Amino acid sequence: MIYLKTEEQIELLREANLIVARTLGEVAKWIKPGVTTLKLDQIAEEYIRSQGAVPGFLGLYGFPNTLCISINENVVHGIPSNYALEEGDIVSIDCGAVKDGYNGDSAYTFCVGEVAPEVKALLKTTKESLYVGIEKAEEGKRIGDISNAIQEYCEKRGYSVVRELTGHGVGKKLHEDPEVPNYGRRGTGPLIKNGLVIAIEPMINMGSKNVVFERDGWTCRTRDRKPSAHFEHTIAVHNGKADILTSFSYIEEVLGDKSI
Ligand code: MG
Ligand code: MG
Repeated sequence: MIYLKTEEQIELLREANLIVARTLGEVAKWIKPGVTTLKLDQIAEEYIRSQGAVPGFLGLYGFPNTLCISINENVVHGIPSNYALEEGDIVSIDCGAVKDGYNGDSAYTFCVGEVAPEVKALLKTTKESLYVGIEKAEEGKRIGDISNAIQEYCEKRGYSVVRELTGHGVGKKLHEDPEVPNYGRRGTGPLIKNGLVIAIEPMINMGSKNVVFERDGWTCRTRDRKPSAHFEHTIAVHNGKADILTSFSYIEEVLGDKSI
């Protein structure tokens, strides 16, 4: 069941999503060698609560923290820990917040210090593919048009697309219908209409598309242990076109010319 949102609901969703965007900007300030992923989690939780919101992931399906933090070969859903970031790591940070009953959801993959050029290239393509997908989120197109655009963009550049996890509708629940896969056929899937709010979130691997789930019950990593990247925006289809409710501008302000 797809719940299309009213203008008023879209503005409430924008508020929650901008809190997530600013939280990721706060976290970005702390990304450097030696900082533990639990510290990043604490920064995020404090900031979200300071905005009169609550962390969206904490306790959801039993997840223990505010952020999902996934290092290098970990794709998504990593649990914050005492692991200290190391020079050359990539760190995917996924953040959710709930404000006035509505969810925000966004993710970004950061470089820790100097990262190998081929890994940076993976991040760049993954981020670009997110915007390629967003361009297809227009009234009258289908979800498969978004999926196919992301898949083609990444596979043409030699990368592979994770199949097990997808984007999703966003509203009063973090995960609503429809599923938004990062692979698929043009012209298939649900019709895109005004009022549709979805998270588009390519999860792209440098090696094979295969993933495994770790024994912690959460962390998803590449089977071949090659790096994986994840970028996510929540968008609303508004006046026929995609309106990005989240923003990477707070992150990019912090990263400056080190931005991917
Ligand atoms: Mg997310
Ligand atoms: Mg999501």
